Amino acid sequence: MAYNPYEDAQTQFDKVANMIGLEQSARDLLREPMKEFHFTVPVRMDDGVTKIFRAYRIKHNDARGPAKGGLRFHPQETADTVRALSMWMTWKCAVVDIPLGGGKGGVACDPHLMSLGEQERLCRGFVRQSFSQLGPNIDVPAPDMMTNARHMLWMMDEYETLAGGHYPGVITGKPVGIGGSLGRTDATGFGVIYVLKDMLDREGIDLHNTTASIQGFGNVGEYAAKLYSQWGGNVICISSYDQADGMSYTFRKKTGCNAEELARIKDAFGTIDKEQAKELGYEVLPGDAWLSEEVDILIPAALEDQITLENFHQISKSVRVLCEAANGPTSSACDQLIQKRGIFLIPDFLANAGGVTCSYYEQVQCNMNFFWSREEVLERLNDSMVNASRAVYDLAKGEDIYMRDAAYMIAIERVNDAIKLRGWI
Ligand code: NAD
Repeated sequence: MAYNPYEDAQTQFDKVANMIGLEQSARDLLREPMKEFHFTVPVRMDDGVTKIFRAYRIKHNDARGPAKGGLRFHPQETADTVRALSMWMTWKCAVVDIPLGGGKGGVACDPHLMSLGEQERLCRGFVRQSFSQLGPNIDVPAPDMMTNARHMLWMMDEYETLAGGHYPGVITGKPVGIGGSLGRTDATGFGVIYVLKDMLDREGIDLHNTTASIQGFGNVGEYAAKLYSQWGGNVICISSYDQADGMSYTFRKKTGCNAEELARIKDAFGTIDKEQAKELGYEVLPGDAWLSEEVDILIPAALEDQITLENFHQISKSVRVLCEAANGPTSSACDQLIQKRGIFLIPDFLANAGGVTCSYYEQVQCNMNFFWSREEVLERLNDSMVNASRAVYDLAKGEDIYMRDAAYMIAIERVNDAIKLRGWI
């Protein structure tokens, strides 16, 4: 049966709702989005033909604050993917305890095949079509897969043109100097490593003596690889997807991948150039080789549903930690196998919460029109991530429960408190 991330997100939620005896009305409210906006965006392409793109902006829950969540450009984008991602955003904001709710957006498109002008018209069209649904106090998008600071700036500019004023808090992940926060580009990947380091310390594992294999070398994978290496870890494999032939490849260097040099030979979509990588001494292996590499830590940082019942057996016996940097990279069906194998799981919406946390800082800075130094941003980010990490770890150890369930428990209880206090249930 085809993987459905929304069913997965609901399965994870149902399990913990049962564990904590969540009342029925809260379950009914929280197991699906509160509001969905499905629309089309007509874009005049460079050849003069108008193409119609399917788009979504979905608000899962905003009891704790304005909805917040990325906007993806992906050819296989579906309403169910955006629903799942919006749900995970609610839990993500709650687990790091920032005053925001969960939302997500997506456009079914392939930016590899679009000129910059076409991408700009798509961004502006997205805002025109969803204007009533967006706003600094309503729902605030941010970059995600295949979207970046430039897309965010076009969207802010369109919003401000329509609104007739300056609203830098309407979107985050903007370029520094035009409402962006220093440290935002690094934030998600760095946040992954802040949590990983804290968890390894608590488990008595020295990061210096560990090896890792990373799937994906986009915004998240690149910065995770950089900080992990900077702190003394050894990245053995990094994989990426190549649009040219529709295949993914694993780049391996047993002595350690150099994330800085790989970043210089990747394109704007996170595709590592095979020929240049070979010249730099990397072995170029099949796309799934990252999964079976003999390392201590696996860091999936690409897509959802990458570790499945079908390929779980490929994971090397050496793997001690699975740190989910992507959203939903492991299908729920694998949770039992992970526990059985004794792999220490760092769940996605905790591991990758650094992006939204820094987006929240960006909004705070925009509201004050006063911007912090990079050091200040990253210091605050480290504190937030480590606090969240410790709360989840302590609960998991104290109650002897699975790490994913512990993260869900904390998040669901916080959101449940908010919906009760508001009198929604
Ligand atoms: P991105 O578009 O910048 O990069 C994606 C990377 O994954 C690219 O290197 C691409 O080549 C690679 N990839 C795609 N398909 C692959 C495959 N089949 N095998 C190997 N590599 C593949 O995306 P990103 O922003 O880095 O996001 C990655 C994941 O992290 C997504 O799940 C996203 O939702 C999640 N996430 C992103 C942020 C953020 O701030 N960007 C925040 C939280 C979560």
